Amino acid sequence: MAQRNCPKCQSTMQEGWVLDNTHGGRAVASWVEGEPKKSIWVGVKLEGKQPIEIESWRCSRCGFIEQYAKG
Ligand SMILES: [Zn+2]
Repeated sequence: MAQRNCPKCQSTMQEGWVLDNTHGGRAVASWVEGEPKKSIWVGVKLEGKQPIEIESWRCSRCGFIEQYAKG
């Protein structure tokens, strides 16, 4: 398993993910290229873009969060 150290205080970071509460339930927050385009039908339009789920690391000492969108 990968391990990362906090860039602020050098303590060990824990791997996790960002919860996104939606009307349909729960989801993993994702990164999408460009600016968000609002839509009255679906909230924000994706216009064919592929969302990338965000991997999030949290420092167990200072709480700093570092995020990666791998794809
Ligand atoms: Zn830290």
